[in-house]
Amino acid sequence: MTIQKKDKLPPEPLERCETVRREILLELKEQNLTAKDLSSAVGIPEKDVYEHLEHIRKTAMNQPCSFTMAPAVCLACGFIFRKREKLKKPGKCPVCKRGHIQPPRFTVTAKA
Ligand SMILES: [Zn+2]
Repeated sequence: MTIQKKDKLPPEPLERCETVRREILLELKEQNLTAKDLSSAVGIPEKDVYEHLEHIRKTAMNQPCSFTMAPAVCLACGFIFRKREKLKKPGKCPVCKRGHIQPPRFTVTAKA
């Protein structure tokens, strides 16, 4: 049995991009989610999720909602990556040097 390679899809038009971003926002309004959760919820690769989140974070100040990131946590020693601004999950813990990391979680809340 042979595995067929998927045909490469043309770049998505901007319209589709906006739809995905809206879907991500809707998902985040309900709950705290990791990039991986969003990837499966919306059906796009994890690396694309980060791009959308980056955009959402940048534009959140113009929106009626705020974007919040709960920091990543080292599951081995409990270290919290409080100062980390990057959305991506850290590779390893600076304290215990292990790679057992709970990725950051994202949420969107309505501004008071
Ligand atoms: Zn650690």
